[in-house]
Amino acid sequence: MGFRAYKYRIYPTTQQLELIDKTIGSSRFVYNMLLSDCKKQYEETGHSVVKSPAYLKTEYEWLKEVDSLALCNAQMNLKTAYNKFFKKETNFPVFHSKKNSRQSYTTNNVNNSIRIENGKLKLPKLGLVKTVFHRYCYGKIKSATISKTKSGKYYVSILTEQSRPKIIESEMTGKTLGVDMSFHGDFAVYSDGKITNFPNYYLKAQRELARLNRKFARTKPDSKNHYKLKLRIARYYEKLSNQLKDWHEKESLRIAKEFDVITFEDINLKIMAQMGHGKKVFNNGFGRFRGLVERKSNEHLREFIKANKWFPSSQICNVCGFRNPITKNLQVLNYDCPKCGTRHNRDINASKNLRLYGEIVSVTEVLTPKKSACGWDCKTCKKEFCSLIQAGSCETSKIVTSNNLVIQVTSPCLQVEGS
Ligand SMILES: [Zn+2]
Repeated sequence: MGFRAYKYRIYPTTQQLELIDKTIGSSRFVYNMLLSDCKKQYEETGHSVVKSPAYLKTEYEWLKEVDSLALCNAQMNLKTAYNKFFKKETNFPVFHSKKNSRQSYTTNNVNNSIRIENGKLKLPKLGLVKTVFHRYCYGKIKSATISKTKSGKYYVSILTEQSRPKIIESEMTGKTLGVDMSFHGDFAVYSDGKITNFPNYYLKAQRELARLNRKFARTKPDSKNHYKLKLRIARYYEKLSNQLKDWHEKESLRIAKEFDVITFEDINLKIMAQMGHGKKVFNNGFGRFRGLVERKSNEHLREFIKANKWFPSSQICNVCGFRNPITKNLQVLNYDCPKCGTRHNRDINASKNLRLYGEIVSVTEVLTPKKSACGWDCKTCKKEFCSLIQAGSCETSKIVTSNNLVIQVTSPCLQVEGS
């Protein structure tokens, strides 16, 4: 069982549009009222409970006009935000502003209240909404989120429950891939040496964005030109984001089709952003890309592996296994291995190590807890590439992975070849 969301563009009528805006506003209002109530409770009693929005309806009659489930979801969102805060995953919930927060509301499917009818989407309170179904909507509809972009477009994201995950039988290719996120120039580096050919949309757009922003700064506030340019900038950002998403989709599908085992590093993107790589992490959407590869790998019955975050992928030499301390300095991009003399590029070396890691993990997970053919104790080396290197002396052995990929493992230098 799995969940999947489908996003479609909707074209509401003027009346529907007004109601959508009203519901988005009401959801935000309820969220903020409940949050301020919680804060007050906490100050007075030392603890707080998120109340049901029902009590607000007596005072603010207009809340009765909108979809009540949307208001319930606003309450649920606040509860989630509180829980995350108590688990120390996020900061304390903040008030949602009309300007900056996401303009959307979510409603649930109760007794078939959300359904596709005559090529249109039936939504609670709104009735039939003109929708462009550019792809088929599979599964049982659970909920719908209606959102509005800054440039004034409307979308619906339909969450569905799928009785069985989508699986596409694809032939084994015998190829494996390691992907290292790169902060120097390219988006990511592949272990097969091919560059991603990443079109750096945001970087290219910097000049145009600067030009538009300069023009915008010169306009009089509240003038016609001011709003015109604001819209133009919003549209420009939307276009960039769509181009990037399109590239992510196509590239992730390509590698999911081409490789049997795909390994990414389990890099904490939040920390990377805090280290000053924020623009790159967020503008290029590496996390989103990794998520897409994971989903598509599962659909194509590929093995998707996230390397243990302590695995020193950029420190080990992929030829001899020597752990080079100078690589701890992130500024070192190219260097020679002191043990075997191989010239390394930091990112390519890391991606090759990730590929090896994936190949070994996909093997040892099958063999655990038995000893592998070569005598390594896979229970101890499971997911620990370093201990495999240290295990040393063992002859060449052939191991078959869970998806019938035959890998030659030669220790101690760990030359791994897919065949
Ligand atoms: Zn070396």
